Amino acid sequence: MLRTLSILFFLSLSWALIADAETMPPAADKQLAHDIYKEFVEVQSGFTTGSTTPVAEAAAAHLKAAGFPDSDIFVGGPNPKKANLVVRYHGSGAARPILLLAHEDVVEAKREDWTMDPFQFVENGGYFYGRGTGDDKAQAAVWIANLIRYKREGFKPDRDIIVALTADEEGGGPFNGIDWLIKNHRNLIDAELALNEGGWGESSGGKKISNDLQVSEKYVINFRFEVRNKGGHSSIPVADNAIYHLAGALDRLSRFGFPLKTNEVTAAYFGQMAKIETGPIAADLAKVAEGSQDAMEKVAAASPPWNATLRTTCVATELEGGHAKNALPQLAAATVNCRVLPEDSVEYVQSTLHKVVADDQVSITVVGNPGKGPASPLRPDVVNAVKRATGLEWPGVPVVPMMVMGATDGMYLREAGIPCYGIQGFFFDRNDIRFHGRDERMGVQEFYEGQAFLYELVKMLARNGQ
Ligand SMILES: [Zn+2]
Repeated sequence: MLRTLSILFFLSLSWALIADAETMPPAADKQLAHDIYKEFVEVQSGFTTGSTTPVAEAAAAHLKAAGFPDSDIFVGGPNPKKANLVVRYHGSGAARPILLLAHEDVVEAKREDWTMDPFQFVENGGYFYGRGTGDDKAQAAVWIANLIRYKREGFKPDRDIIVALTADEEGGGPFNGIDWLIKNHRNLIDAELALNEGGWGESSGGKKISNDLQVSEKYVINFRFEVRNKGGHSSIPVADNAIYHLAGALDRLSRFGFPLKTNEVTAAYFGQMAKIETGPIAADLAKVAEGSQDAMEKVAAASPPWNATLRTTCVATELEGGHAKNALPQLAAATVNCRVLPEDSVEYVQSTLHKVVADDQVSITVVGNPGKGPASPLRPDVVNAVKRATGLEWPGVPVVPMMVMGATDGMYLREAGIPCYGIQGFFFDRNDIRFHGRDERMGVQEFYEGQAFLYELVKMLARNGQ
């Protein structure tokens, strides 16, 4: 009786749900993706304090349990805490491999900053919560779960499918996994093209607006602002104070904005957005695509992500200074993290900061080596497969090529001559992006839809674009 009722209920009310259910992964595959995801999120793989090795080992254990031979699984890295995982699913060899990349590490998260424990995977109110639920453990888990599903289903691709889960994407540093693999084991990851994080779905008020395909990205420059001073006793203060010099510089920086402009990719992006958006902003978006400065001002003011798409940004992220409560500071310093448009040079950004700071007591130096990858070509096979897979999962939702604001490991691949496309199919509310922030989360439904989307997309691309 109960069963009859529920079937009737299902049949009478839920044709939409039936259609939806067909595009979702089978229950066992959803469960597997969920379990791997949970395991990954609960590993404290923080960039500075954690280890990525347990993530690589957990993935390897799932793959072995699913019958992947040891000879197709690589776990290794530059030191015992920074292991990467690479696994190969063999195709016919008719085409060169496709590489599926995701990073294992996460930005630090402190318990006291969060509403809940950031390293407990919690489902609540339609969301999965935990550090890395968005960036980037969902894609890492889905790559592994989908590869296991291909194997179980006996899928025969035209090219090898390689999954690489890598260390230390966040914050750069010497142990970046994909950089290390390119330099030390290129044969393991060499591919005709790669898919990675960087492009996600944008929704607003619950409505899916676009499935973004990332083809270029901003690059990162970290600057150190530093003021040195001879110091002295705090009971005899003088105007020439290291902390005040630095504070003045940062205050001027906080009120400065780099010029607003578009490039080929972002003009195309805003052109698409003009067709998607409704209301008065749509006209402004169309004018942005045509290069109107007035419209750029309005659009940048309307949305932090649009602002970051239209200009290079620099923001203070770390502070240090002083050495005793009762001494004038001999040192005050800050990290200023810049996300730079591909067409803006390091020299341009540095000289602009000098002008903004306008204080020669403040030295401004580049930390590390800013990398800079070329844009990937807009390959028709990739664009068409993304459009088709998007149409299967979310009929009517457009695919929008874009430049992403943050930098990703795609840069290393592009520099190495492997075109890399940021595509995830996980939808996020574009005014509530919590990557790197507190209470990071992923919609439960959005996670499984992304799993289904990536399953179809990789299948299409691995069949040589068929
Ligand atoms: Zn990431």
